[in-house]
Amino acid sequence: MIPESAVQKFRESLRGQTFCPSEAGYDAARTVPNAMIDRRPAVIARCSGAADVIACVRFAREHDALVAVRGGGHSVAGKSVCDNGLMIDLSAMKGIRVDPVRRTVRAEAGLKLGEFDRETQAFGLATTLGLVPNTGISGLTLGGGFGNLMAKYGLALDNLIGVDVVTADGGLITANASENEDLFWGVRGSSGNLGIVTSLEYRLHEVGPVVGGAVLYPVAKTKEVLNFCREYAQSLPDEIVIQGGGFSTPEGVPVFAVAACYCGSSPSEGEKLLQPLRNFGPPIADMISETTYLQMQSFFEPFFPPGRHTYVKSNFLRALSDEAIATMAKWAGTSPSPTTFAPFVEHWHGAATRVAVTDTAFPHRQNSWNFMAWSTWSNPADSDKNIQWTRQIWDAMSPFLIDGSYVNYVSDEGDSFARAAYGPNYDRLVALKNKYDPTNFFRMNHNIKPSQAATA
Ligand SMILES: Cc1cc2nc3c(=O)[nH]c(=O)nc-3n(C[C@H](O)[C@H](O)[C@H](O)COP(=O)(O)OP(=O)(O)OC[C@H]3O[C@@H](n4cnc5c(N)ncnc54)[C@H](O)[C@@H]3O)c2cc1C
Repeated sequence: MIPESAVQKFRESLRGQTFCPSEAGYDAARTVPNAMIDRRPAVIARCSGAADVIACVRFAREHDALVAVRGGGHSVAGKSVCDNGLMIDLSAMKGIRVDPVRRTVRAEAGLKLGEFDRETQAFGLATTLGLVPNTGISGLTLGGGFGNLMAKYGLALDNLIGVDVVTADGGLITANASENEDLFWGVRGSSGNLGIVTSLEYRLHEVGPVVGGAVLYPVAKTKEVLNFCREYAQSLPDEIVIQGGGFSTPEGVPVFAVAACYCGSSPSEGEKLLQPLRNFGPPIADMISETTYLQMQSFFEPFFPPGRHTYVKSNFLRALSDEAIATMAKWAGTSPSPTTFAPFVEHWHGAATRVAVTDTAFPHRQNSWNFMAWSTWSNPADSDKNIQWTRQIWDAMSPFLIDGSYVNYVSDEGDSFARAAYGPNYDRLVALKNKYDPTNFFRMNHNIKPSQAATA
């Protein structure tokens, strides 16, 4: 328990708002989009800038308080909110400045993808971010960052030029290719383990208009669609990113959809390259068209409203083999919830897969297909059956999956999961954890344990 007088003094020292239990705004501030997560921090500090973040770290250290860091709050594992302890909420830190001449942007850590894209698109520029505008840029980038531009320009973290980081001792340092290079290597993939990133600088690229959307097929065609995707993906240029998955339309019709985006400079060429997706079939709905990049980035938003219960299992396939396809076809359309996306596959290729495994802390550069069972439902009484179904499809798919997942996509899986998720970069990350966070102060994440703390 932190003495009330110390909490009071701390609150008065900050420029940003704070919330304690039973106060107005507390419940809204502790709520994250995944309704499965219901945690109650002792104090929530909505920081106004790096000075508040530094004050939070020093306060938590002094009182030995557990710390959770919230960017956009989209971690399905709920890592951005803790019971008791201090929730360091960055969501009010939304400063952003685009340099259209250098094609760079400096963005504060509380921005969401939609807010970031809007500012950069004012100059016809963009960088790789994810597919749902409400997701936070910082959690997404620090863990990886798959999105429509990743085959052309790399993952979100591949576009980072540098970051400002508040470290576990309460100092603020810059990490980039020439300052604190070891930390810069580590923050690109270690998902908040090494410190609190207060601002991020990214490279930007000329983007838009794009050609994209989705085509829907009857769920009974899942096997044929996945077979087609495997063939089609073999010759895809870097300008195109595709994904496919089972879900139900708002009318309750189970379908298997393929979503695609072409981000190159010639929309007519994009139309031509995407034509095979529409010719195969015929689809029961065709929503692919030339559109703005901002519209494309909002395409999936209606499918992921906040407040649903969410449970996710995900990992890369060794290959999109006949057996893996047959298993997915068997499970497609069987989820107990019409809002679930599963089975689902993302195709990873191009620039994101041309980076060496050890060039950044993010290790997943070699496998082309990422499998997901992204289960969501509205009624808490349905939790057991949906979690059980997700685990069953996961067990069925397990023989086809590698060890170690993409940290951004999974519900909490514990220590052995975290070790496998960082792959061959794990030992180097432990050495960085020993250097920058030897007491494991930052542990509300897919945690890399410092060796001292592990021994203790
Ligand atoms: C609906 C939905 C759609 C998604 N779509 C995509 C997608 O298209 N592509 C993709 O790659 N991923 C996607 N994701 C996964 C997403 O990248 C992760 O959930 C990511 O962690 C979200 O970041 P956040 O800042 O919103 O989350 P938060 O929950 O705030 O943070 C996630 C983790 O990062 C840490 N963290 C956050 N900000 C900081 C910071 N500034 N400094 C240090 N640590 C920090 C937190 O402590 C926590 O451990 C999606 C998730 C959801 C729920």
